[in-house]
Amino acid sequence: MKVIKFGGSSIGSPERFLNVSKIIISKIKTDYSIVVLSAIGGITDKLLDAIELASGGDPKYVDAFEEIKTVHNNFVSEIIPPQFQQEAKNKIESLLKRLHEKLNGVYLLNECSSRISDSIVTYGEYLSNNLMVYLLRSEGVNCDFSDARNLIRTDSDYGDAHVKFTVTNELLQKWYHSLDKNTIPIVNGFIGSDAHGHITTLGRSGSDFTATIIGGALEADLVEIWTDVDGVMTVDPRIVPAAVTLNELNYNEASSLAVLGGKVIHPKTISPVERHNVPVNIRNTFRPEIDGTFIGSTKIESEAGIKTITYLNGLSSITIYESESRYGHKILARLFGLLSRLDIPIITISKSAYNQTICLIVKNKYEELVLENIKLELVLEIEKGIIGEIVSKKNLSIVSAIGVNENNISHVSRKIYDVLENSGIKEINFLNDPASLNISFVVEENEVNKTIADLHEEFFTKSESVNVA
Ligand code: ADP
Ligand code: ASP
Ligand code: MG
Repeated sequence: MKVIKFGGSSIGSPERFLNVSKIIISKIKTDYSIVVLSAIGGITDKLLDAIELASGGDPKYVDAFEEIKTVHNNFVSEIIPPQFQQEAKNKIESLLKRLHEKLNGVYLLNECSSRISDSIVTYGEYLSNNLMVYLLRSEGVNCDFSDARNLIRTDSDYGDAHVKFTVTNELLQKWYHSLDKNTIPIVNGFIGSDAHGHITTLGRSGSDFTATIIGGALEADLVEIWTDVDGVMTVDPRIVPAAVTLNELNYNEASSLAVLGGKVIHPKTISPVERHNVPVNIRNTFRPEIDGTFIGSTKIESEAGIKTITYLNGLSSITIYESESRYGHKILARLFGLLSRLDIPIITISKSAYNQTICLIVKNKYEELVLENIKLELVLEIEKGIIGEIVSKKNLSIVSAIGVNENNISHVSRKIYDVLENSGIKEINFLNDPASLNISFVVEENEVNKTIADLHEEFFTKSESVNVA
């Protein structure tokens, strides 16, 4: 059994939607498959725009809603054969009507909680999934919509809910055993529900995660993630067109890539499949003949010395200068306590050995809150001069070399330093992660494109010409 997931970019136009239905039809000929589908590309953003306008009391939310409506109505008339259209139209219309009512409610109240926002934003998936069901049925495929709301249990952290795996795995196994194996289930990605039955979402791009949650729980033979590129590449191809597709990655490398900014898969995608040793294959819907990238448990060293380069933008540093060395560890303990109370994740932290300078990296959105609270927490130490200045800096990025060959760490680090020096890029912080074989450093966000292009040139383009020679 396979789980096959298609992202929004793969179904962004009526032709693309039809293309995906053909891939599904060809896949189910050979394997029983569970299909996971995202919203049509751009619709989730539009829904979020509509929610923001409505909750701000701006009647323009109706324009955003009308755009969503037009897109789906056009899809129905362009992809569903005329004799099947009425039924599909009725379903899409009733979903759109309900969506409009919810948005109108938000507009009238001038307010939208994150719980309500989740219940609205998931309409993108309800619409696309139902469209796919009607399209496949018109092609003679036996299929049914299965609502992930009944299959994936999460906490109530709306917008970025955490999955409760024990309950979820049980729900999924029960569901799977009850399925009529002559019917293909189409499951909405990105969605779960909490213990009260309220809809939750798994974070932006969460459909990848839905696919691996299902694949892991059911110990699928394979999870295929179909997207708009040939697989995982040596760097983001939108920034460095010379990027090359990788044949394989191991779980650790794929997970590092996802967490450290590689947008091709959602950050949490890997752990559910890694636990059950289920392989993942990233493939291109526009070039189904290509094998794509396989992700599994075996580590294969690369000739380039690293596997791929990632970047994660939108970060801030908070630096506490020169604490007296005998207090350094106590200040660290208090900082961790403070961040835990504020429930703010630290992307990374470093502390100098000499003057105890501590540097935290957090997301931009937390910068002011963290700075303010650290100053409050350490007010006495500041007054007594036990610590020096506390300064913050916004708009930073972490660049990472992922999947460094085990015996090559110092060579790769040296090469990275050379590239930074030759390119005149000032790195703010250099971090070694020998355990997961990644090397990361922090630079200003406006230097990211140059940094990754120059690194890519050094590790992949140059080494390729050397290999050829
Ligand atoms: P989907 O709609 O299928 O979920 P996404 O847009 O979320 O697709 O992810 C695919 C995109 O990820 C690609 O179009 C590519 O621009 C981007 N991307 C970023 N880094 C990488 C990488 N290392 N390898 C492949 N694609 C990447
Ligand atoms: N539709 C959701 C999003 O745009 C989930 C996904 O695409 O995976 O974030
Ligand atoms: Mg995605």
